[in-house]
Amino acid sequence: MAAIPGTVSDSEPASAVVTAVDTYDVRFPTSRELDGSDAMNPDPDYSAAYAVLRTDAGDGLEGHGFTFTIGRGNDIQVAAIDALRPYLIGRSVAELCADPGSLARDLTGDSQLRWLGPEKGVMHMAIGAAVNAAWDLAAKRQGKPLWRLLADADPEWLVRQIDFRYLSDALTPEDALQLLRAGREGAAERAATLGERGYPAYTTAPGWLGYSDEKLTRLAKQAVADGFTQIKLKVGADLDDDRRRMRAARAAVGPDVRIAIDANQRWDVGPAVEWVKALAPYDPYWIEEPTSPDDVLGHAAIRAGVAPVKVATGEHCQNRIVFKQLLQAGAIDILQLDATRVAGVNENLAILLLAAKFGVPVCPHAGGVGLCELVQHLSMFDYVALTGTTDQRAIEYVDHLHEHFEDPVRIERGAYLPPTAPGFSGQLKAESIAAYRYPGGTYWAAEGEEAAV
Ligand SMILES: [Mg+2]
Repeated sequence: MAAIPGTVSDSEPASAVVTAVDTYDVRFPTSRELDGSDAMNPDPDYSAAYAVLRTDAGDGLEGHGFTFTIGRGNDIQVAAIDALRPYLIGRSVAELCADPGSLARDLTGDSQLRWLGPEKGVMHMAIGAAVNAAWDLAAKRQGKPLWRLLADADPEWLVRQIDFRYLSDALTPEDALQLLRAGREGAAERAATLGERGYPAYTTAPGWLGYSDEKLTRLAKQAVADGFTQIKLKVGADLDDDRRRMRAARAAVGPDVRIAIDANQRWDVGPAVEWVKALAPYDPYWIEEPTSPDDVLGHAAIRAGVAPVKVATGEHCQNRIVFKQLLQAGAIDILQLDATRVAGVNENLAILLLAAKFGVPVCPHAGGVGLCELVQHLSMFDYVALTGTTDQRAIEYVDHLHEHFEDPVRIERGAYLPPTAPGFSGQLKAESIAAYRYPGGTYWAAEGEEAAV
């Protein structure tokens, strides 16, 4: 029988526990180059509220997890993770890794923490960081990349990892089990295919709103040369600018490359429909986040109004229940889950299963700090052992900040190559944390001295 997560090795004390949860406020100065700029976020400093679970297991393994923010407020996000420390210290390492769902349930179910949500916002994202750290530790202890751990896991065990509360009108444990059992057929062949071809990616690199037309054109051509078949442009600040930028992008990539557009919640429902229709001559593939992430019926109205342009959302979708409603209302064509917006891998398993049940393709949100590193595992699990397809699917790719990670993503010919190192790939290099810790890291301290002159 294959080892299960959390198996106790001969050399470690059976009583090994989590001994420390160290947190770090890590900020990168991305606003200097307008990397990441969009219609609602003109000057993001890509940041991670970062947590490390340490243990006394004697194997030297740590669980690393984080939540992505864009700068100010990262200190609040770190404080929220700090508030979880008492729930983590002293937990049995073997039990935690054998059943990360127990941690997810304890944290999301804690009545006093729950009051701050329920299951949304800063506290929920903090729980996501802690839960993802537990999965990282579990995968490292099993010696597998997380996608492989999930793809190899018993369907019954995976179902037990999911909190079906508020979902059973759309997805029951029996539905989930059926989907996961069906997903097992041909999994070994698909894992081999994944190793050869990778998982399709699309790139947002050309399309940041602050980039000049020249830079946009150059990067769009480069993306096609690099093998990408889809790019994405930020839109929504000025319609004339968007027409000009779409024209330039379409001229750069030709008629056969998809151009998705992303408004980052800029519009009300009516203006969203009008704006997308105005850009229709340039053949946009999807409109992403046209309006508030909470407006399920608004998305449905926009979808009806802009067809055949597809509607995509999810990076700010606060939990599995809103995803359920988006699917039930027929409000989206593309579901964009995010690795650090919800309460970690367990909730994202529920979201992947919901999407599979409704037959809606998942194209995860990535970029930011380390989001590419994390979401690739979820999509690869989905391909190998759940939906069995990459049709209509692609993981977002942004070429920023990967150099700070121990196990950075590998992109070849427009595809993510599957990670092989054990874990969830979200471990920052120690020297990057030392440099970009805010405000005391070496980079920020030097900035402070410059400002003081
Ligand atoms: Mg987006």
